[in-house]
Amino acid sequence: RNMTGIWPFVAANAPTTLSHAQGAYLYLQNDRKILDAAGGAVVANIGHGRREVADAIHAATMNATYVVPPWLTPERQGLVEELRDHWLPQHLPCVHLCSGGSEANESAIKIAVQYQAAIGQPQRKLILARNLSYHGTTISMAGLSGHASRKRGLESILEQHPHIQTPYPLRCPLGPHHPDACQYYLQDLEDTIQRVGSENIAALVAEPINGSSGGAITPPDGYWQRAQEILQRHGILLIMDEVMTGFGRTGVAFGSQLYSVQPDLLVAGKGLAGGYAAIAGVFGREEIANAISAAGFNVMFHTFGALPQSCAAATAVLKILREENLVQRAGVIGQHTLERLQASFGQHPNVAEIRGAGMLIGIEIVKDRNTLERFDESARVTEHIAGAALDAGVFFYPGGTGEYRDVICIGAPFIIDEPEIELMETALGAALANLPKG
Ligand code: PLP
Repeated sequence: RNMTGIWPFVAANAPTTLSHAQGAYLYLQNDRKILDAAGGAVVANIGHGRREVADAIHAATMNATYVVPPWLTPERQGLVEELRDHWLPQHLPCVHLCSGGSEANESAIKIAVQYQAAIGQPQRKLILARNLSYHGTTISMAGLSGHASRKRGLESILEQHPHIQTPYPLRCPLGPHHPDACQYYLQDLEDTIQRVGSENIAALVAEPINGSSGGAITPPDGYWQRAQEILQRHGILLIMDEVMTGFGRTGVAFGSQLYSVQPDLLVAGKGLAGGYAAIAGVFGREEIANAISAAGFNVMFHTFGALPQSCAAATAVLKILREENLVQRAGVIGQHTLERLQASFGQHPNVAEIRGAGMLIGIEIVKDRNTLERFDESARVTEHIAGAALDAGVFFYPGGTGEYRDVICIGAPFIIDEPEIELMETALGAALANLPKG
């Protein structure tokens, strides 16, 4: 039967057809076995097919299929306790649950704006974002994001937001990994705040480590702490979008903790239930919740925001992460993977950089590693590498924004081991050996 055009709405090539998945592997209908080195869309932190999680979802469904989110179910209570006891930074005890990352980022922005209004600053309605970023696909999150290719054909309706520069040490305008890169990007933040007027700005939304848009770009040392000082001085809230970096991906619970920064609102999704359910959350300071409540505002829920099945799935996934020390494992095995790939390909003439933290790794491909010149967009290098790797049995996540290219991301389940690292190495080697010429 013709299965083109059924997803994502437009006619596309015939889809890759899955039979099933288990652990870190995907099995196609033609019996091919593929390593899920992308963890889907950097989601499957504990791997596929854990029975404990399926059992928890089953039990939740039988206990109470659906209630309006404001009612407290045992499943939501269990998740909030797990989060507060073991995961959330102490200063972020308040929880608002949504069904995905885009929704959760929107909710965080609404909460930030409501907070500013509640404390007598209703004119603070601008949201700062970054020129290289991804925060979601709803109309407002597509507008906020610095992601050209995901805006195409929508430009006429997307709102423009003031953007600061995403710290990108490799491509710092002062020079690659310039010693003054941190100061350069902080000055850009200061200048943007001056230009827009601090009294108009509610919040900055940013990923602590850039996700797939830029391919695991880590900021210069000291950037986040000093950026937060600047924001605090200007009364601007920091919303950290940890949809990709949250719940262990970088080897610690949240990527912001790598930089000792304390966001006012933290958004996480993907890894919260590791792909077993559609759930994301906004976690915030008590002062923010108290001010909104004192002003008599309501933070409206999404219908499926705290679905008992999703809460139960997330609780079961988080327990597995803890009981099997998988966050620590993501740090160790991720670092090991990074070092192995750097040793094998770090000096390849078409590799600009292999970077990242924990099990979030980006490989930036260029035409010439000395000048950092990129391949032409028409050469579709990212697609080419992802396709060649797939032929070699590995699914890497294609990254980049069209403008910023070409990056391949690794977001493997934290359970992978030596054989999987070897597979990734072989597949990347095969893809790099066969790059387009132009
Ligand atoms: N924020 C970041 C950093 C992401 O990586 C993503 C998805 O890739 C999102 C937000 C959007 O999340 P969702 O696709 O669940 O709406």
